[in-house]
Amino acid sequence: MIFADRVSLVTGASQGIGEAIAEELGREGATVVLVDIQKDKLEQVAFRLAGLGIRALPYEADVTDSARATQVVEEVLGSLGRIDHLVNNAGITRDSLLLRMKEEDWDLVLRVNLKGAFNFARAVLKPMFTARYGRIVNIASVVGQMGNFGQTNYAASKAGLIGFSKSLAREVAARGITVNCVAPGYIATPMTEKLPEEVKKAFLDIIPMKRFGLPVEVARAVKFLCSDEAAYITGQVINVNGGMYM
Ligand code: NDP
Repeated sequence: MIFADRVSLVTGASQGIGEAIAEELGREGATVVLVDIQKDKLEQVAFRLAGLGIRALPYEADVTDSARATQVVEEVLGSLGRIDHLVNNAGITRDSLLLRMKEEDWDLVLRVNLKGAFNFARAVLKPMFTARYGRIVNIASVVGQMGNFGQTNYAASKAGLIGFSKSLAREVAARGITVNCVAPGYIATPMTEKLPEEVKKAFLDIIPMKRFGLPVEVARAVKFLCSDEAAYITGQVINVNGGMYM
């Protein structure tokens, strides 16, 4: 098990890609700190992972709340003494054409997807500096690279996350901390389940592999970036998109 004794904090961990990431890291021996806004689901996931022999600790938190982010990190450090991996995965969509987009939908998407990552990254940096070790993985999106109709807010947040990661990677590289992004394409999760059938078909048409991705396929890329095998990789974006964007 490559992450025995490691502690991984994953946001948006109560379903979809975040849940798969927590499971993948936990299967490698990491203690996983599950952060999500959905308390009930979070506890169910912690219970399911415990059944797999994974030590999983649920923390209810809204990633937009910087004071809560600091509090969660302090509590984890108090009880576990370390945080080795941070995976900023929590994300939302509020799709609409820009002409009709409500200001609150623009603000909310940017707050959750981009400021949420800032809040948790800033909170974990001090302990990672002290340890001279850390892995930060931000879950971006193919949409941040190629744009998408009706998703100006989401695309801006995900492109922002890529720029944020590259800049932070430069700031912390000499301290033994790497910062990378994983950019999923279309992955079958509750977030994409609710899209209309014609939108799903349009996506399938432009995916060379002609299938949607699985959450575990994203999780494996995150696992790699958190591993010692990826020690010399920083400021990069790994695409997990079936060839949708190259
Ligand atoms: P899901 O909506 O299935 O899961 C996201 C989780 O994050 C949910 O449990 C959600 O809770 C939680 N969350 C939302 N807002 C907050 C918040 N403010 N604080 C804490 N937790 C919050 O999404 P996916 O698993 O599909 O996506 C995970 C990540 O991957 C996202 O960043 C997404 O943008 C990205 N991504 C997904 C793709 C896909 O095809 N599925 C493609 C490319 C990128 P709630 O349900 O209550 O909102």
